[in-house]
Amino acid sequence: MSGPAITARGLGKDYGSLAAVQAIDLEVAEGEFFGFLGPNGAGKTTTIHMLTTLLRLSRGEAVVAGHDVVREPLAVRRQIGLVFQETTLDGSLTAEENLRFAARLYGLSRADTTRRVDESLALFDLQGRRGDKARSFSGGMRRALDLARGVLHDPQILFLDEPTIGLDPVNRRAVWDYLDRIRSRGTTLFLTTHYLDEADGCDRVAIVDHGAIVAEGSPRELKARLGTDQVEVEADRVDDALVEQIRRVAGIAPTRTTRGLSVATAEPARVVDALLPLVGGAVRSVGVRSASLEDVFVSVVGGRR
Ligand code: ATP
Repeated sequence: MSGPAITARGLGKDYGSLAAVQAIDLEVAEGEFFGFLGPNGAGKTTTIHMLTTLLRLSRGEAVVAGHDVVREPLAVRRQIGLVFQETTLDGSLTAEENLRFAARLYGLSRADTTRRVDESLALFDLQGRRGDKARSFSGGMRRALDLARGVLHDPQILFLDEPTIGLDPVNRRAVWDYLDRIRSRGTTLFLTTHYLDEADGCDRVAIVDHGAIVAEGSPRELKARLGTDQVEVEADRVDDALVEQIRRVAGIAPTRTTRGLSVATAEPARVVDALLPLVGGAVRSVGVRSASLEDVFVSVVGGRR
């Protein structure tokens, strides 16, 4: 495949009078790990469904794995894998049977099936459970089996809609470890998530709100451009009078926190210098917290609620 893995131009979907997705432009490079973020109802699932040929477009166009989603949906489907929120595994089949069944749907030959089933079980640490029924699996193992099935036909692009939803922190981490393994084989990953600490691991993210992209870039770029560092001061005897005094004397606008004060600033060193003499001996600790992707998300989406 040459060119980007995913290109969308003016992509949109209406449900009656609601433009669930307005007119999205997107480009995802081959091998890239792309995060699609946004609040509930922003249009993430609708977009992913259009890109994976599961939903008709209302406008625009999209080319996925070198094929147009409207004109060549079957060619697109052959090149992509899907892992969606609701598992579609058959609980009455074993792990291996679930994969063999999927292999038949993908049209894999008998030899390819045996090889790919073994590889996929190994990639997601499921060899020891291959003969166990899926219904006996924990949530984390079921997700691993979903992933194994999603990459069984060695797709160029794997789409994942909230792959870690409902998992405990240990299993979330395991899924991210698996995603790294998938990615190291050169597969492009396109995922939605509400967990912004996870999205920090993406090469690039887009934040979508009300069906439109409101910010896009690498997590590092977005944090530098849209996030602000926080100076956090833990101190006794913080009251409104002190906050007012700081405001007047130092020209800084702190907010009170449960343990002291916090100041959003692009110049943390200057703020610390100005603040400390005023807070005086009551200071217990001073720290600078760098902007997180969550800060960026709240700053671009929060103001629009
Ligand atoms: P979440 O994070 O909650 O999964 P999302 O970003 O995936 O949200 P979508 O599921 O794409 O959002 O929904 C976008 C908008 O389209 C929402 O307002 C939703 O109510 C609406 N919508 C989605 N599917 C349909 C449908 N089949 N018919 C009518 N409206 C729909």
